[in-house]
Amino acid sequence: MQKNCFRPILDEMRSAFSSGLFSSYAWRRGQLLALRRLLVEREQELSAAIFADLGKSAEEAYLTEISFVSGEIRQALRHLRRWMRPEGRSVPLHYLFGRASVCPEPHGVVLIIGAWNYPLQLILAPLVSALAAGNCAVLKPSESAPHTSALIAGLIGTYLDGRAVRVVEGGVEETRALLENRFDFIFFTGSRSGGSDVMLAAARHIVPMVLELGGKNPCIVECDADLAAAARRIVWAKFLNAGQTCIAPDYLLVHEKIREPLLALMQQAVSQFYGPDPASSPDYSRIVNDWHFLRLESLMRSDEIVSGGQRNRSARYIAPTILRVTVESPLMQEEIFGPLLPVLTYSAIDQALDCIRQRSDPLAVYLFTRNRAVIQQVLRQTRSGGFCCNDVLFQSAIHTLPFGGSGVSGFGRYHGRAGFETFSASRSVLVKSFFPDPGLRYPPYNRKKYLFLKQIVRYLG
Ligand code: NAD
Repeated sequence: MQKNCFRPILDEMRSAFSSGLFSSYAWRRGQLLALRRLLVEREQELSAAIFADLGKSAEEAYLTEISFVSGEIRQALRHLRRWMRPEGRSVPLHYLFGRASVCPEPHGVVLIIGAWNYPLQLILAPLVSALAAGNCAVLKPSESAPHTSALIAGLIGTYLDGRAVRVVEGGVEETRALLENRFDFIFFTGSRSGGSDVMLAAARHIVPMVLELGGKNPCIVECDADLAAAARRIVWAKFLNAGQTCIAPDYLLVHEKIREPLLALMQQAVSQFYGPDPASSPDYSRIVNDWHFLRLESLMRSDEIVSGGQRNRSARYIAPTILRVTVESPLMQEEIFGPLLPVLTYSAIDQALDCIRQRSDPLAVYLFTRNRAVIQQVLRQTRSGGFCCNDVLFQSAIHTLPFGGSGVSGFGRYHGRAGFETFSASRSVLVKSFFPDPGLRYPPYNRKKYLFLKQIVRYLG
């Protein structure tokens, strides 16, 4: 790959951005409407591409990707005028007369790098925020979902303003070549190692960024939970997209008294959702590639399996698998990111909380209980990007809740207004009148002026 091969594209985008074309409300709204048209008119092609990459059903693609991006667009269209408005701030009396405000302004040319597991959503949802905030964007979809990547590349040019949005396809090499250039902001979704490389590249050019990474999300089930509902919700969330969801419950911490009934209910839910043979269910996805298939296979110990465990390498199929494990199990060392659900037990909630705190901060902590004191205790004694009680995943589907990680699961927030704010730079603006212009602030200073100034700062400052 030629050195600095992306320079001409970026120079073009930067000069288009500098012309101020993209800052108006009308342009932003127009782009959001065009993106919505893309989703409506090309829904079938998009679902087919996602199916080709992940074996994801059209219903699941709609539910978790297309409708989510549409929801983000709806939020932005509904609130954009208000979001764009400068926010007034009070001005202390001795600085009168002046008007102070905070103005959200676009960063400029931003880079959005996506992961493969929700290959459409993870590129287009940040794009909604970037466009709403008036930026130009270069999109780099994941090379591990090549059908969706190619389709995005084809459609974006057809629907959106080509001066403001470009797609660069490819893998690590192409991303590194992009990063030789200075962007005004970088939004990265992916692995910890990829994220830290991108952060190093961003640091070279002093570029602000967001990292949306992964982690091991714990899910605690207390004795007082509605076990049937908990089992259905956990099984749905864990085996959706064959477990390849960054906020899926990674492992369960179950009170020892309810382990056996919960395991039975979860097995029942698996066969209710996917039938006796999930391999033939149209609603069950496949592992994205051979590398991940082999990685997941190496984590399975036959003596730990409670149900599932069947696999087929050529189809990249791994059955929904529930395992009874201890903390030493290979499954408890890294983020699983596949359809393997390890179950640990505890006898007192403090034990469960210790187990969570021994690991780095996850994206989400889940808890099933009716006890408010336990909810408060778990909230107080754990840290994570999000928390959801008595359900799973839905904290990320609510457009008014900012989404992001904590600690090594990432930093920065998006979705809804949080996305608009992330893709905006806050500019502090003060506009003053020429009058009054008291001589007090100007030299030469003397003791009288000094004492008077002190009084003013003391009483008005
Ligand atoms: P990945 O890091 O391998 O790839 C993500 C993107 O970064 C791709 O577009 C890839 O081309 C690029 N990339 C990878 N390594 C790079 C490098 N060294 N230099 C420059 N660019 C690089 O991640 P993945 O396998 O696509 O995604 C899986 C991970 O993403 C999981 O850990 C998952 O938890 C996490 N994830 C997080 C979220 C979130 O919202 N927090 C969402 C989805 C996935």
